[in-house]
Amino acid sequence: MFEQNLSNILGELEQQGLKRALRDTQSAQGPRIQFDDREVLNFCSNNYLGLANDSRLGQSIVESIQREGFGSAASRLVCGNMPSHRALEERMARFKGTEACLTYSSGYMANVGIISSLFGKDDIIFSDRLNHASIVDGIRLSGATLKRYRHLDMEHLDQLLESTSALRNRCIITDSVFSMDGDVAPLDKITEIAQRHDCQVMIDEAHAFGVMGDHGQGCAHHFGVQDQIDIQMGTFSKAAGSFGAYVCTSRLIRDFLINRSRSFIYTTGLPPLVTAASLKAVEIIEEDQSLRQKLWDNTHYMRAALRLAGFNTLSSSTPIIPILIPDPDVCVTFSRRMFDQGILISAIRPPTVPKGTSRLRLTVMAAHTKTDLDLTLNRLQNVGKDLGVI
Ligand SMILES: *Cc1c(COP(=O)(O)O)cnc(C)c1O
Repeated sequence: MFEQNLSNILGELEQQGLKRALRDTQSAQGPRIQFDDREVLNFCSNNYLGLANDSRLGQSIVESIQREGFGSAASRLVCGNMPSHRALEERMARFKGTEACLTYSSGYMANVGIISSLFGKDDIIFSDRLNHASIVDGIRLSGATLKRYRHLDMEHLDQLLESTSALRNRCIITDSVFSMDGDVAPLDKITEIAQRHDCQVMIDEAHAFGVMGDHGQGCAHHFGVQDQIDIQMGTFSKAAGSFGAYVCTSRLIRDFLINRSRSFIYTTGLPPLVTAASLKAVEIIEEDQSLRQKLWDNTHYMRAALRLAGFNTLSSSTPIIPILIPDPDVCVTFSRRMFDQGILISAIRPPTVPKGTSRLRLTVMAAHTKTDLDLTLNRLQNVGKDLGVI
């Protein structure tokens, strides 16, 4: 009975063309990868700066193994708090200009653990409709009242705050760069609204860290409002090319999380070699402007050309460039035809995005060459015309 139910559900997904399966990558991550046994140009990773296969990170891992070994053997609260953990947190607090930093084993765990420990059933959370699933799950687990506001709609957010009691703890939570749309939360307006209503602010910089801000600190710095944001969460798993997550915040909140955040407490510390790699990535992000410059040059070039060709790239202003193809079947066909020509761009459909907004999600990397971009543009235009998208 149990297995029959599961099998029925999978069958339905298959019928709707929504059943998903893992496909294999046979090479290290880069602008070109070996995928499903052929070489393709990669336009779907979050490895914006190409650090996921950078030899400097590799070297820091080797040195870490020699110093600290491999496993961290226990929760960080027991005996698993290794030198690399401390070094990374100190460096991040300095880089972001916050009192303190705490790292988590992943971005998912960070959001679930931060939100569910800091907020409870008496509190109210205001959440952008397109926030990442890990934020949604953290809010659910917290038991707080959820008020969802329309994507980037500041008037709606303001109204919702207006209509709820200032006597309750309230917090606005938003992605800073949205993972499927590539647009940016107006943190200047959000912090202004929060101050007016005496409300906390938490942001998720997963796609902004290493990409936005003069030195890659993220959107808080891009807008210059870092001092008005209570909780700056982000990950080392995207532009930093490593794994794990951070929360840059006050000493008080860090202390509280160490004592109450279950996804921090009840899990083994990250292998120190992972945090050593993240630390090296932070150093590169802070000191090497050339990678970020290249990323943004490529991004501007690609988006301008796509728009000129007549594609709808929504309000993207980052290296995440959606190409709207409302019909999910056409979208999947488009992606497959690109793959047949050696170009990997994923088709994103409901329920990952709202109905009627299926899209190709193209992400640009610093390591793409102009030739890569021109070739891809040419093929996108040909297939786009053939399928009546442009
Ligand atoms: C990827 C992502 C996460 C999850 O981070 P992981 O380190 O991959 O677990 C959280 N929030 C956002 C906005 C993301 O894009």
